[in-house]
Amino acid sequence: MIKKIGILGSGLMGSGIAQVCAMSGFEVCLFDIANDQLKKARENTEKSLKKLAAKGKLTEAEVEKAIKNLNITTQFADLKNSDFCIEAVTENPDLKKKIFGELDQLLAPSVILATNTSSVPIALLAEVTKRPDKVIGMHFMNPVPLMECVEIIRGAQTSDTTHQTTLELTKKLGKTPVTVKDSPGFVVNRILIPMLNEAVYCLQEGLAGKEEIDLSMKISCNFPMGPLTLADFVGLDTCLFIMEVMHKGLKQDKFKPCPLLRKYVEEGKLGRKSGEGFYSYK
Ligand code: NAD
Repeated sequence: MIKKIGILGSGLMGSGIAQVCAMSGFEVCLFDIANDQLKKARENTEKSLKKLAAKGKLTEAEVEKAIKNLNITTQFADLKNSDFCIEAVTENPDLKKKIFGELDQLLAPSVILATNTSSVPIALLAEVTKRPDKVIGMHFMNPVPLMECVEIIRGAQTSDTTHQTTLELTKKLGKTPVTVKDSPGFVVNRILIPMLNEAVYCLQEGLAGKEEIDLSMKISCNFPMGPLTLADFVGLDTCLFIMEVMHKGLKQDKFKPCPLLRKYVEEGKLGRKSGEGFYSYK
């Protein structure tokens, strides 16, 4: 039975996953090498929980319980008693491989190791462990507390039991799991990111201005925000990285990153997080 969930990485995604797990009654051990990042994660989680309480979505007692469930640490060994682990560190294949090797040594052989990666093949992480049948992808969407979908990615060796346990856990977190194959970009990013890339091509070719491109998609497709705004939100470096992974992995020209997207990234315009992307956030 899963009681304690270990989460690695307390950035945008890891802190959101930790919040959702803590709210769902699990004891959480949130690990990061950066203490300031952990403190920020705790502060943001407390703020978010209080906002949910103010909207009547949580009681004061539930907020208190969730805060109590969230433990933060910079000590890797504190993850030892986890019953299930979710990795959400920086998107770097070598870093993730190293962490999966270390987790495999630290944790009981029965523990499932899930990754929130957007692009690293599950098989690549499975092969550095002695439990490839217990490695699976759990791709949460951003912002985690608000988005319903979790893509569940089965690697070539993921067992049916691992898959079933992960589906059940996802539902206990109040999310809807969708199982997909282990392929570059999985399904959501395979469809979404090329669309954002195409919007950048429209801008590059001068088909319309950025506001017009965003407005047209908002009011014709009923999107909550336009594609260029969304690209800024996701991070232009992240969009570029995922296009490159798909271009390399799927070997099709339709996944070629738009030169204008690359130019923005080279200039350090990464979207919201850097204060400037297609729009200014300063
Ligand atoms: P982020 O940069 O906000 O956070 C990454 C965190 O990992 C940082 O706090 C960093 O200190 C920590 N970290 C780095 N090395 C570490 C180590 N050795 N041990 C422990 N922690 C370490 O990144 P993010 O946006 O939260 O992305 C995390 C993962 O989630 C990535 O794999 C990314 O592809 C995936 N993802 C991101 C999004 C998104 O919209 N940002 C959506 C879905 C999935």
